[in-house]
Amino acid sequence: MVTVKSSQEIEKIYRACQVVAETLLKARESLVPGVTTWDLDRIAEEYILSKGLKPAFKGYRGFKHTLCTSINEEVVHGIPSKKREILEGDLVSVDCGAIYEGYYGDSARSFAVGQVSEKVQKLLEVTQEALARGIAQMKEGSRLYDIGASVQNYAENHGFSVVRDYVGHGIGRQLHEDPQIPNYGKAGTGMRLKPGMVFAIEPMLNAGLAETKTLSDGWTVVTRDGQLSAHFEDTAVVGEKAPQILTHL
Ligand code: MG
Ligand code: MG
Repeated sequence: MVTVKSSQEIEKIYRACQVVAETLLKARESLVPGVTTWDLDRIAEEYILSKGLKPAFKGYRGFKHTLCTSINEEVVHGIPSKKREILEGDLVSVDCGAIYEGYYGDSARSFAVGQVSEKVQKLLEVTQEALARGIAQMKEGSRLYDIGASVQNYAENHGFSVVRDYVGHGIGRQLHEDPQIPNYGKAGTGMRLKPGMVFAIEPMLNAGLAETKTLSDGWTVVTRDGQLSAHFEDTAVVGEKAPQILTHL
């Protein structure tokens, strides 16, 4: 069931989202060659706890960490590790969630570490813009798959593929609520969007083919062809005329 949130509920989701956005900024500032993904996770957890909130991913289906850290060909759900040092030229995707008074916020950003190739830079820019185009559909009168259609058109017109195996989602009282929101689809189809629905939109774009596989750790998702992947996610509210993005600072 897709729920419409009250303004009081949206305020709580907003508080969670703001701390998530601040945490991602902290992670970005800490993202230098030599730092481990474990270090990033510690910094994120300490920050969220210092604000009186709870990390949303810790304990979720047995996940033990505050962040998902996915590097280069890793798409999503990378596990922070003391053994994984960030290197110059890496593309690092950081996904974070937090809970405020029972309400969830969820956001992700991909960052370039130091000097990266033009191809990496383009992948980052196109993924972020694809997210913006998807969210721009979150207004009264739109249909659900208008979001994915906008993401897919922009991504594919720029030569990248859209991951099919993982999707965006409703969010609020739970991290993952209905509906599932694919990053592809046919415009003009799917349910009608209503003001007050809150979604986490999260395109994952690949430099090569769209297919993914999960590593033997049971979590880390990588591109099947080993090429790069980027992930941007924001939590936003469907508005009457325009969406309100809750994870922007
Ligand atoms: Mg996320
Ligand atoms: Mg999400």
